[in-house]
Amino acid sequence: MKVYIETFGCQMNENDSERILYLLENAGYERTNDIAASDLIILNTCTVRERAKNRLYGHIGNLKKLKNKNRDILICIGGCTAQDLKEKIIEVFPYVDIVFGTHNIPELPELIGRRRLTNKSICSVENNGFDHDLFKVRRKQSFKAFLPITIGCDNYCSYCIVPLVRGNERSIEAEKIIRNIEELVSGGLIEVTLLGQNVNSYGKNLKKTYTFSELLEKVSNIKGLKRIRFITSHPRDFSKSLIDIIKNRDNIVKHIHLPLQAGSNKILKEMNRNYTREDYFNIIENIKKKILDCAITTDIIVGFPGEEREDFLQTIDMVKKIRFNRAFTFIYSPRTGTKAAKMEDHITLDEKKKWFRELLEIQNIISSEENKKLVGKKFEVLVEGNSAKDGILLKGRMENNTIVNFEGDSSLIGKIIPVIITGAKTFYVMGELIRNNS
Ligand code: SF4
Repeated sequence: MKVYIETFGCQMNENDSERILYLLENAGYERTNDIAASDLIILNTCTVRERAKNRLYGHIGNLKKLKNKNRDILICIGGCTAQDLKEKIIEVFPYVDIVFGTHNIPELPELIGRRRLTNKSICSVENNGFDHDLFKVRRKQSFKAFLPITIGCDNYCSYCIVPLVRGNERSIEAEKIIRNIEELVSGGLIEVTLLGQNVNSYGKNLKKTYTFSELLEKVSNIKGLKRIRFITSHPRDFSKSLIDIIKNRDNIVKHIHLPLQAGSNKILKEMNRNYTREDYFNIIENIKKKILDCAITTDIIVGFPGEEREDFLQTIDMVKKIRFNRAFTFIYSPRTGTKAAKMEDHITLDEKKKWFRELLEIQNIISSEENKKLVGKKFEVLVEGNSAKDGILLKGRMENNTIVNFEGDSSLIGKIIPVIITGAKTFYVMGELIRNNS
């Protein structure tokens, strides 16, 4: 039996797909990239933005032809859209066999078995208290892993649907995290990315509590682990001790992703972000003062309800002053069920698009200028695979998260190698492998 899995959205979803694959392989399925040859189709979905949901609808619509050709093929929709829309998915697409929520992954083999015995589509989205088992995961690569340390979120930023579809924040015990990473390192792991909606609030629900800084210190002590990344940080909970640990530990990368979202205090308040632009500036100043060459990336929302041109210009002001290495920018899209979806929004979409382009233009110039500063310098690069651009060059990642494309043999994939940077683009740099390290 063959299973085809497609993943939309964030690294948390990537990790969920790896958990799904582990369970299905144990149930006798083999992964295929050929959707037409599969017996089981899983779409692991994202609902963070309206566009992602609309694209998914198009995708499910396309599966009807496959189902008509082969009535035995099972179509399963999981992830955040499934958790959000529940039975509605089956109402709109009656040929969908199973809808399973973000809490119901461990149930999936049983749901599939049940569906094969009945004629009725199944929707399972209740939180039945299943554990997030770090150990039951089929990883794509042995040298690189995404590892959740917290699931869910308690922050309720007014625009965000994540707390509604992923539930309240739960941390995974530090002992389990450490044991899991040690096991992975003995199997060849080089780089781990600790995942959470707000990693900085790690440990809140645990009996034996560690702060995120303490957890990071413990992970950093694991022998043989070369690189540690973490996403996402929340400015409200970003501590000074964390900056010190990043500074003092060689295997914690000098890259911090710190979502700004907006540069105006009025909008930050409406977003329920619980920090001000001054707080954010202070954190950045501390980081830049203590950690030399630390890359800083961010997320920004343009056109939040009530945002005026003056508010937007304050975002631009912060972007120019901070000079983010990269910013992931989005036009605000209302998510049903959130507080912001009920707020009055008087700025037209055309106006928001204009602001968005303005921001993008400024940020792209900054990203490109920051990348140019790397030209002529040597860096250690973890080779991740072939470049998405042409498939011939190799793609690696510098410690500061910059992507490097360069010529090389695929035997280098999974290794850390020295590269000299020879050219800069907006979103990546070009490099040359240093063969004898001279
Ligand atoms: S911190 Fe805010 S934006 Fe991030 S997941 Fe939680 S509610 Fe959403």
